[in-house]
Parts: sequence; C-alpha cells; structure tokens
Amino acid sequence: HGRSNGTDGVAVYDSQIFSKALKLISMELDLHNALINNEFFLVYQPVVDTKTRSITGFEALIRWKNSQGNIISPTKFIPLAEETGLILQLGEWVLFEACSTLAEWRKNNSLFNGLKVNVNLSARQLSDLELTDTVSRILEETNLPPECLRLEVTETMLMENPDYADITLRRLKALGVGICIDDFGTGYSSLMYLQQFPIGNLKIDRSFVADMEKNPANYEIVKAVVALAHALGLTVVAEGVEEEEQHIMLLEAGCDFSQGYLFSRPVSPQILPDLVSTMQHSQNPLSQAG
Ligand code: C2E
Ligand code: MG
Ligand code: MG
Ligand code: MG
Repeated sequence: HGRSNGTDGVAVYDSQIFSKALKLISMELDLHNALINNEFFLVYQPVVDTKTRSITGFEALIRWKNSQGNIISPTKFIPLAEETGLILQLGEWVLFEACSTLAEWRKNNSLFNGLKVNVNLSARQLSDLELTDTVSRILEETNLPPECLRLEVTETMLMENPDYADITLRRLKALGVGICIDDFGTGYSSLMYLQQFPIGNLKIDRSFVADMEKNPANYEIVKAVVALAHALGLTVVAEGVEEEEQHIMLLEAGCDFSQGYLFSRPVSPQILPDLVSTMQHSQNPLSQAG
C-alpha cells in the first residue's frame, strides 16, 4: 500500500492509485478502438405530452457494447471521453447517427412527422468553435429539418462561459435547432442568463421528480420551475417519471412534457417505430375522463 518518498513525504506511488490509473489508460484505449470498431449505439427514449401521453419525440442516449459483450453506461465513459477529447468525435458520431435515423424514419413513416430528437451535448462540444458548422453540415448531409433536432446542455456547461455559450446557442438557434436545459435544478444558473439564453425548454432533473410524493418541498420546487419556465415563455419536461402518482402530480403542476420508465424505457431503433405507433394510437384514460 504505497511507499513514501523520504525527502518530501509525498507518496511516490500507491498500488491502488496505480491500478486505477492503468484501468483508466486501458479504458481510454478501449474507447478509441470502440469508435473504430463501431461498438457504440444509440437507444431512444420517448418524450410524451403530459396531458395526452402521446409521443412528441425522443431523447437519443448512447450505449457502448464492449468487445466482451458488456453494455457500458454513458455515465462511466462520457466523463473519460470528455477528459481525453475523444468526445468531439464521439459527439459528432451521435449527432450524425441520431439525425440520419430520424430522417430515415420520417421518409418511411408519417407517424414521425413533427417528432423531434434530443441529443445531449458535452461541455467540450459546446465550447468547440466548429460546433455550429458541424451541426449544420450534419443536418444537410442527413436531410433532417433543423427544427426536428434539439440539443441538450446543462446549466453548469452554460455557466462555465456564459457569454461564449450565448453566442454559440444563438448561432444554433439561427439554424433552426432547439435548445433545452438538461438536469435543471442540479447545477447553478443565474436567472439573468436564463432569460437571456435562446432556450426553448427546461428539463426538470429526475431527483426532484423521484422525491416529489414524499417530499413536499420538492413538489413545490417542481411547481415553481414550471411557473418560472412558463413566465419566461419556455416549456417544461419532467425527467424520470416512474409512477402514475408522479404523472398525476405533474399534470396538476402544469408540466408540459414527461419522460420516464412509466411511459417507456429507452429502446433500440429496431423497435421504436412499433412503439411510436402503439403510443400514438393508445388513449390516455386521464384525458378521456376529462
Ligand atoms: P440525461 O441526459 O439526463 O438522460 C436521462 C437519463 O435518465 C438516461 O440515463 C435515462 O436512461 C435515464 N432515465 C430515463 N427515465 C428514467 C426513469 O424513469 N428512472 C430512472 N431512474 N432513470 C431514467 P442514461 O442513458 O444512463 O444516460 C445518463 C447520462 O449520460 C445522460 O443523462 C447524459 O448526461 C449522458 N449521455 C447519454 N448519452 C449521451 C450522449 O450521446 N452524449 C453525451 N454527451 N452525454 C450523453
Ligand atoms: Mg439529456
Ligand atoms: Mg437529464
Ligand atoms: Mg442526467
């Protein structure tokens, strides 16, 4: 367990740190190879209209099936891809894949008219000088109308360099692309900036939704976020809706859109068209009851 350098008292190495570093390095190599070997894929989670439960679009979420056949969560590898800079290539792959998939569906299936795809951006992508050009080129190459794409950024990403973020978001908005603030309430953002950025909607973080029934303060926060968003002319999406009771509370809070296991888990593109057709045709008992 570690050895000290006698001269300055700082540990020269620690076997645990060392093996952790080795793991990181090997994962970095794996990530690089994964991109070359097409080991990444996207799953899509429906976003529904809270009132009618009809599908309004979906969020693209990345997965990695490594060479051992294990599916690895983005929470494990996105931070590493971000650190190493590989996120720029990976993020471009995600954008292209999501846009071309939706464009293909739109060609073959009228149920996809008006549906949007949300793509998560990382901090490095937002600060990339070429982001707008990349997005614009991908929209052209895939023939996807810009208004079908929405980019998700977090408050923390925006506040790292708010003036630069504002310029980038304005360029993206000028292309016709929508912008959402993801995980709203978990970072910090200035209300001054919030009303200044060209944002279309807020996604309330699932930690507030998860706790809403037991923790009245969280329900108050959800209601306040809905009121704030509406006052600023934004729409609101609730993340992580798992239970019917939460759905009813969100409906009462006036939350526009919802996303969560209650409606659907993220699904593979192979089954999404069938899911869309089921979700479009099913009636919501709440809206029938009036
Ligand atoms: P996020 O953007 O906030 O995505 C929502 C996460 O909540 C997803 O986790 C989704 O599977 C999960 N989720 C959805 N509904 C429920 C629910 O009802 N209950 C619970 N417990 N969870 C639910 P996932 O797919 O593991 O993604 C985690 C995070 O990784 C994302 O959070 C996002 O920050 C990041 N991520 C995913 N895909 C990408 C990508 O393509 N690029 C970038 N930069 N980040 C990504
Ligand atoms: Mg997201
Ligand atoms: Mg989120
Ligand atoms: Mg999140």
